[in-house]
Amino acid sequence: MADLLNVNINDFMAKIIAKNPGESEFHQAVQEVAESLLPYIEEHPKYKHAKILERISEPERIIIFRVPWVDDNGEIHINRGYRIEMNSAIGPFKGGLRFHPTVNLGILKFLAFEQVFKNSLTTLPMGGGKGGSDFDPKGKSDNEVMRFCQSFMTELQRHVGPDTDVPAGDIGVGGREIGYMFGQYKRIRNEFTGVLTGKGLEWGGSVIRPEATGYGAVYFAEEMLKTRNEEIKGKTAVVSGSGNVSQYATEKLIVLGAKVVTLSDSSGYVFDPDGIDREKLDFVFELKNIRRGRIKEYAEHYGVKYFEGQTPWNIPCDVAFPCATQNEINESDAKTLCRNGCTAVSEGANMPSTPEAVEVFIGSKILYGPGKAANAGGVAVSGLEMAQNSMRLPWFREEVDQRLKQIMVNIHETCVKYGSDGSDFVNYVKGANIGGFIKVADAMLAQGIV
Ligand code: NDP
Repeated sequence: MADLLNVNINDFMAKIIAKNPGESEFHQAVQEVAESLLPYIEEHPKYKHAKILERISEPERIIIFRVPWVDDNGEIHINRGYRIEMNSAIGPFKGGLRFHPTVNLGILKFLAFEQVFKNSLTTLPMGGGKGGSDFDPKGKSDNEVMRFCQSFMTELQRHVGPDTDVPAGDIGVGGREIGYMFGQYKRIRNEFTGVLTGKGLEWGGSVIRPEATGYGAVYFAEEMLKTRNEEIKGKTAVVSGSGNVSQYATEKLIVLGAKVVTLSDSSGYVFDPDGIDREKLDFVFELKNIRRGRIKEYAEHYGVKYFEGQTPWNIPCDVAFPCATQNEINESDAKTLCRNGCTAVSEGANMPSTPEAVEVFIGSKILYGPGKAANAGGVAVSGLEMAQNSMRLPWFREEVDQRLKQIMVNIHETCVKYGSDGSDFVNYVKGANIGGFIKVADAMLAQGIV
């Protein structure tokens, strides 16, 4: 009993680290949540006695499997596939699949852990999961990607299903990959169900799903700015990445009257001081989604500067949207952003700021929207896609966009409720962690020791 009543962060993290050695991203994600939650749990002993924090940090199930496939030259390749089924207290496991050479167990466990709180914040009935593979789709032909996806789903299909676990896209997994995996699932299981989200519109997808994460991150920024009587219109925005989330964050920023001056990929970033307009964004859509080229070509095409091997955080801006990957903003980047006048950061990516960078943002009292709140729009519309699949009835664009906007407004309200300290400053990290925790924790209490 003594240790139950004295859970401190160091003891708790020592156990997490010992149990999950070498998984630094997972440690980072758990530590951030534990720091927010431990004081709250102290005040609510029912969670402490039931060891909810300890249980929520342990995946319900992890599946690791071999993914063999044959390239266009007949050579055999062997990748590793994963699915982390983190928590199903409030609904089927739900979360994306990432195909990227850096994928490992620790990264997917951090993503699955974050997903539990994010999905709860949406208010929709979705548990948390994540999966993927160290497969790199870059430079592969469509046929190679198809063969890989078919092999991946041949194993994964045993573990997923519309009421069990519903994967979606993430880095390296877009409409093409979802299509190949859905086709293989349908072929093996002989059923047409909502086993994946992010499907094409003609075969069970939802309008606004591709746009949802990027749009949602901008809606969240709008809500944060409103608390200071400001708006997106007229703001200069720095966006990183040039994939799905970046593209649609940029699209919504343009529509709302902001000037987006950067985009990037893992090779470098482009700086367009005149701003990326609709026509230039269409070039990016074609470059990234069809030709699958590098962002450098934007600089060559429009005669703007390209910075090889660098990130865009030294470009002065009012608002920043990190939309590429984890830990892409370090302490020095955060200081540079604040020094240059950035007043709001809305994270399209998952955990793009290091703990030191988060400390700088919170210490500077800027509007800092962490990924698990700011990028929840993607999974929210995935939840709406599941609802439409169950009803076998697609909704209209306006309806889905309106619901997305309302969900982002609600998430913002939840963050304000649990993240305010009485002053006019909102700690959105604390707000998102506590707000996301309560529903899952109460469901776990109700369901007994499972
Ligand atoms: P995409 O694969 O469409 O795009 C990823 C972008 O980030 C690309 O421009 C890619 O560049 C860049 N990138 C990837 N890895 C790195 C790296 N190590 N260093 C620098 N740049 C990198 O993925 P998404 O847009 O879907 O995802 C982006 C982020 O948003 C991820 O953190 C993801 O977890 C998060 N997210 C996505 C959601 C979704 O609905 N898709 C939902 C919620 C969060 P390159 O092409 O050179 O690799």
